[in-house]
Amino acid sequence: MQDEKQKALVVLSGGQDSTTCLYWAIDRYGLAAVDTVTFDYGQRHHIELDCAAKVAEFAGVSNTCLPIDTLAALGGDSLTDPEIGVSSEMDADTGLPNTFVPGRNLIFLTYAAAFAYRLGIRNLVTGVAQTDYSGYPDCREETIVALQETLRLGMECDVTIHTPLMHLSKKETVELARDLGGLPAMAYTHTCYNGERPPCGQCPACELRAKGFAEAGIADPLVTSA
Ligand code: ZN
Repeated sequence: MQDEKQKALVVLSGGQDSTTCLYWAIDRYGLAAVDTVTFDYGQRHHIELDCAAKVAEFAGVSNTCLPIDTLAALGGDSLTDPEIGVSSEMDADTGLPNTFVPGRNLIFLTYAAAFAYRLGIRNLVTGVAQTDYSGYPDCREETIVALQETLRLGMECDVTIHTPLMHLSKKETVELARDLGGLPAMAYTHTCYNGERPPCGQCPACELRAKGFAEAGIADPLVTSA
């Protein structure tokens, strides 16, 4: 029987980064040892959940979608509140764009750790990156290291949070996906902040994605298959 500790749970949002992480986990642990979890946090674009399910199906791994209603109830950010338009401009007080959902990654990883605990899995994989253009504080390595320590203490288990993209640029993330055989799955991913498919090409998320593929000299399967 496979060592349970050598299994991994990938937090899969249906986007480019988490899909790359899924292929990283498959490469490292083997297809049969990888599960995925997706959070329905009341995001404006339900398409993200469909994309996560499709990516998982395409890759050949299971996907569990867990509901978290509270973030949308809190509101105040453009990813959960349809009244707020997506903008890449920084808020003068916080220095963060209005796409920042306070605590989102902390909550995701805490629920993911609880789910992994139930499954007997000790490896969590998340696509957070410090180089993320928005500078979300919950994507920083410091935050993740501290959270891992908190989870280890709070759950009394040796959970490890893997962040394979932490120090990669978008270009390097695209190259990693290519090297891991993850490019075909990119056709099923979703990035656009406006929830459009084919992607709008105008919003900050679309622009960042397009820049990464362009710099890597690779055609984006999402755009070419549209
Ligand atoms: Zn877009």
